[in-house]
Amino acid sequence: ATPMSVMVGVGKAAEYGVLIRQGDALQTAGKIDLVILDKTGTITEGHPAVTRVHALDGDDNKLLALAAGLEQHSEHPLAEAIVAKAKEENITPDKVSGFEALNGKGVIGQANGQSLRLGNRRWLEAEGLSVNSLSDAAKGITDEAGTPLYLALGNSVLGVIGVADAIKPDSKAAIERLHDSGIKVMMVTGDIEATARAISDAAGIDDFRAEVLPEDKADVVNEMRKQGYTVAMVGDGINDAPALAASDVGFAIGTGTDVAIESASITLMRGSLHGVPDAIEISQATVKNIR
Ligand code: ADP
Ligand code: MG
Repeated sequence: ATPMSVMVGVGKAAEYGVLIRQGDALQTAGKIDLVILDKTGTITEGHPAVTRVHALDGDDNKLLALAAGLEQHSEHPLAEAIVAKAKEENITPDKVSGFEALNGKGVIGQANGQSLRLGNRRWLEAEGLSVNSLSDAAKGITDEAGTPLYLALGNSVLGVIGVADAIKPDSKAAIERLHDSGIKVMMVTGDIEATARAISDAAGIDDFRAEVLPEDKADVVNEMRKQGYTVAMVGDGINDAPALAASDVGFAIGTGTDVAIESASITLMRGSLHGVPDAIEISQATVKNIR
């Protein structure tokens, strides 16, 4: 495309809230045949809420106080949900020291002189803790597309908390538009298989990869590019930045983290996934106009 037609296309895209930060992204966008979407904050609202609190000893308030004590030190959307729930229930978070967040695993600190951990099953099992006694409660959580987070104090597992995040109202329609243009849509998430499947089914996604560690999201992008796809990556988080940079065209959600925005060539100012098919259509029109 000529510099002039690119300018026109960039202007047109801006009207749709699609901010093209690199001119060549507009030309590449028309060739995209695979869109890889992050889950939390990209397909979903990114404002999860607690759906279930299940303590093995029946003391749900104590469970929530410990969990909120840990999560008040974290900025993860899952953490905000747990802290908000405690507040709503007028539960004072327990004092937790030595907080640490472990990417893709959970959070750890010290309470009552013991280590306190809240995170996913894979991590707790790797630490030698069994969560089998909570499998019924966990199934109830994943059936509702929620994420089970297990709490352990020292070597005892105390219970599970379910946190679920609603799908953005227009995600499904935007994904349908991509399908109508013959584009394949995949999801990558750090979340577990059961939750990923529920979200993927509800949003009409073709394929997904679950339990992908933050540092491995870029590998999925590279793998699909090697298969010959022109890959768009769409994400909002720090953990999406390497995948955004590795993709042919990176789309950052405008309300997402600065690191994601800086790693992407396009910003979706409205936060809606419709910006992706918008950019692709404008790109195709731009390239066609100059022929
Ligand atoms: P996503 O790719 O879906 O944005 P993340 O990589 O941020 O997910 O997190 C993956 C998983 O790690 C979460 O589903 C959760 O099990 C665990 N995790 C991450 N941060 C926290 C936290 N603050 N509290 C509890 N669990 C967490
Ligand atoms: Mg995200």
